[in-house]
Amino acid sequence: MERVAIYPGSFDPLHYGHVDIAQRAARLFDRLIVAVYDRPSKKLLFSTAERVAMAQSVLGGDANIEVRPYHSLTVAFAEVVGAQVLVRGLRVISDFELEYQMALTNNQLAPDIETICLMTRHEYAFLTASIVKEVFWLGGDSTSLVPPLVFAELQRKRATLPDDTGPFTAVSIRD
Ligand code: ADP
Repeated sequence: MERVAIYPGSFDPLHYGHVDIAQRAARLFDRLIVAVYDRPSKKLLFSTAERVAMAQSVLGGDANIEVRPYHSLTVAFAEVVGAQVLVRGLRVISDFELEYQMALTNNQLAPDIETICLMTRHEYAFLTASIVKEVFWLGGDSTSLVPPLVFAELQRKRATLPDDTGPFTAVSIRD
């Protein structure tokens, strides 16, 4: 039987932590579908088409990685594409609680679909899409955080938005 996994997320935008998980997961399965969720509760910087195109350009060279948008329940999308596994990445302990809850929920909804979590490589443990957006928007060097194509897309996006737009949650300042 063909082993198919999906790697769901919002990928707004795709960063090196995502790339690492996708490439490692692709080695474990016959096919990996990077599933770009089109309606996350978070505020998005990039449209679904833009997020899909970036992931496709960066990961599409890998013969067994496909990128597809979805808007349903994640397990429903997994069933539609014939995936038996959901891949998630774990960065820090605090990710675990939410991933655990989502995995149990998904297992309740679709007992035949397993969730597999891959540990981040330690150099990406701090990296989130929000951090990428904040660093970029405030003029920090984000070239070590995202692939060159994503960096170019961030520059292009900034040129289309007003200067005072801060399309990020300021994660570095907490009250
Ligand atoms: P982010 O958390 O960066 O905004 P998503 O919400 O789109 O990204 O996350 C999609 C998946 O990728 C989740 O399973 C998330 O835990 C995982 N992930 C995100 N960043 C990293 C990272 N730096 N290392 C490993 N996994 C990650």
